[in-house]
Amino acid sequence: MRLHVEVTTDRRFGTNSYLLEDEDTHDAVVIDSNLEPELIVGLARQRGANVRAIVLTHTDLDHIAGLHELREAFGPVPVAVHDAEREVVAEGKPLRREFGPLATRLENVVPLPEGEAFRAGSLELEVLHTPGHSPGGVTLKIDGYVFTGDALFAGSIGRSDFANSDGSALIDGIRKKLLSLPDDTIVYSGHGPATTIGRERRMNPFLT
Ligand SMILES: [Zn+2]
Repeated sequence: MRLHVEVTTDRRFGTNSYLLEDEDTHDAVVIDSNLEPELIVGLARQRGANVRAIVLTHTDLDHIAGLHELREAFGPVPVAVHDAEREVVAEGKPLRREFGPLATRLENVVPLPEGEAFRAGSLELEVLHTPGHSPGGVTLKIDGYVFTGDALFAGSIGRSDFANSDGSALIDGIRKKLLSLPDDTIVYSGHGPATTIGRERRMNPFLT
């Protein structure tokens, strides 16, 4: 399988949205939905990608802000989220008690159970539960790529100062499920540049 990855970053929060495409079939998924959804819609159209699902690494506002626009553009494709944060997108329940409720109530919300493959057209993503920044945080793995959301960043890790965060679970999950991957695994994070597992294992000050 030949995979193609594109990233867009919104100007307000610097949150990344990814277009992951199978170059042979043009089946694609969008991973996270930042504040400028028109960028990923434009990329998908330009490439002729068929977006089969939207997959969420977690449900902080800056990762779900563009969901309605993506659904308008791509049709009622499934929105995949871990069960621990399903209510945020299905019922508009706030993820953080520190922030107000959202106006997000989506149909066709599907689960992302750990250890089960998530299939979208010809794409098959492995789900690794990497909570701690938020309860339903997941990392999506396909071939030599991982999409880590706000668990692991180049040179940093996610915030764990929210009421429903858990700093030790965050570090534990990163060590057991991510740092155990091969050195050359490419890491696409929720914010900032791409990195590799080998680089983070050696250089990340929160993990060394
Ligand atoms: Zn974020």
